[in-house]
Amino acid sequence: MAEHEPTNVAVIVAHPDDEVLGFGGTMALHAERGDTVSVLFLATGLASRLPPNESPTPEAISALRADARAAGAMLGVKLMEFADFPDNQMDSVPLLSVVKVIGEFVERTGAQLIYTHHMGDLNIDHGITARAVLTACRPLPGAQVTKIYAGEVLSSSEYGVPEDRFRPNTYVDITEKLEIKREALARYTSEIRYWPHPRSVKAVAMLARLRGAEVGLDAAEALVLLRDVRSGV
Ligand SMILES: [Zn+2]
Repeated sequence: MAEHEPTNVAVIVAHPDDEVLGFGGTMALHAERGDTVSVLFLATGLASRLPPNESPTPEAISALRADARAAGAMLGVKLMEFADFPDNQMDSVPLLSVVKVIGEFVERTGAQLIYTHHMGDLNIDHGITARAVLTACRPLPGAQVTKIYAGEVLSSSEYGVPEDRFRPNTYVDITEKLEIKREALARYTSEIRYWPHPRSVKAVAMLARLRGAEVGLDAAEALVLLRDVRSGV
């Protein structure tokens, strides 16, 4: 069997916890087979959980980042960066600024494969992130990014308008990684809610079971393939 060529994988999401919700099992599988997994968070997180006009304290932000790093370590993440765009207000930032940050990250990490948001998510930061990733990773001659997937984030992907719902065409068997995904998610104490909130550990595990059952697997993460440029078959 041919040796697996290590791939540089970038997970580019809006908020700390989106990476685990969408791709936690997939990230752990990449790390296990020797791929380099890097994560870029574009927005701060937290602000939408606070009363209007209240900003998250520096302590709350660093606690969230500590959770993100702990979850990342569990999943085998090599590099984690925080871009600090305003939470739930990324529409107040020129798209070009977001594109530039992503472009620089992608170049620096040598990313070949990217996981990001579904453009139809209700959360404004998610949609902007997806658009900015596609813009930063245009398939120009010699482009290093050859594959891009969108993932689903409970409490956002299922809240969009019906015609923009997440419709997966790719499934990753995460049966062996569901437990570590659950544990990584549980590290996000400020973000996780209680059942039947969709962002509860129970709901996330149930979604993994349902996505698995859709394709005859015990547990899966569902994706939408946005682009796949192959040099061979
Ligand atoms: Zn998010």
